[in-house]
Amino acid sequence: MLVTGGTGFLGSRIVEALTIRGAEVFAPRSKDYNLVLFEDAMRCLEKIRPQVVIHSAAYYGGIGFNQLYPGKIFYENLVMGANVMEASRRNQVERFVGIGTACSYPGYLDGELKEESLWNGAPHESVINYGLTKKMMAIQGWAYKKQWGFNSIHLILTNLYGPGDTFHIERAHVVSALIKKFVEAKLTGSAEIEVWGTGKPIREFLYVDDCAEAIIRATEVYENTTPLNIGCGRGTSIRELVDHIQKITAYDGRVFWNTSKPDGQMKKILDVSRMKEVLKWEPPTALPAGLQNTIQWYSAHKEEADLRL
Ligand code: GDP
Repeated sequence: MLVTGGTGFLGSRIVEALTIRGAEVFAPRSKDYNLVLFEDAMRCLEKIRPQVVIHSAAYYGGIGFNQLYPGKIFYENLVMGANVMEASRRNQVERFVGIGTACSYPGYLDGELKEESLWNGAPHESVINYGLTKKMMAIQGWAYKKQWGFNSIHLILTNLYGPGDTFHIERAHVVSALIKKFVEAKLTGSAEIEVWGTGKPIREFLYVDDCAEAIIRATEVYENTTPLNIGCGRGTSIRELVDHIQKITAYDGRVFWNTSKPDGQMKKILDVSRMKEVLKWEPPTALPAGLQNTIQWYSAHKEEADLRL
């Protein structure tokens, strides 16, 4: 099996879970295979000759990172997805698993996001450059099935968090960014921490190991080019998230809500009824327990985690 991005936050958990199951897994490093170049993608597939490819490599970050590097995020993800699937097709891969994102959904829908509404409008402007590129893999998969009988699935992932996440402040998503801020404030005795936006946006947070398990289960049993949501189906406001982290870190300073920073999409929660039906499984890790593990991991690995971009 080939797992692109297999040394990254999510990819490394997929590789570990597959290895425990006894699979032989290859995780290419970007310094050896730059998947933005088609020749490298081909070279990688020709060398490994995998039956299954899980394309989990992505160039992405939190809402601030997307404001800084919108062009690079667009180009790298679009081209990597197209290259890896095309190289997989040319090398007779039997099953391709595209890892997509909830940022692909229309940005202004009410209620929970169902697979059938994926095409009903433009993604939110804060993430459109990322969301649209990932969604193109679903169309590529559909077109390749039609013309060449190529087998692929497309999984739409909600926001992830957990040990090994990106804590570099430029790139961090909200969970790791806030954990970093609270842990540091506690260490330095700082009287105040800054949180972005109004606290009202609602996100869904899936623990990374639960996500890896869902991806492997879907790789085994799901056989349809219609995208499949992967999430926990529960919404948490940024304010509630702050309360959880503040409680676990026992920080008793002030929280300053910097409303000059963007809220982004107001609500992003996936409808996971198809996921439960198809996988016959639900993510077991509750948010407080997952946050506790992540805070513990970060406290123990702070120095290296802060530097890894
Ligand atoms: P998104 O899900 O693509 O919007 O990405 P993020 O995980 O980066 O942000 C989610 C929400 O958390 C947004 O409403 C942010 O404004 C809010 N947020 C609050 N504080 C922070 C912070 O320190 N860093 C980040 N990245 N987001 C924050």
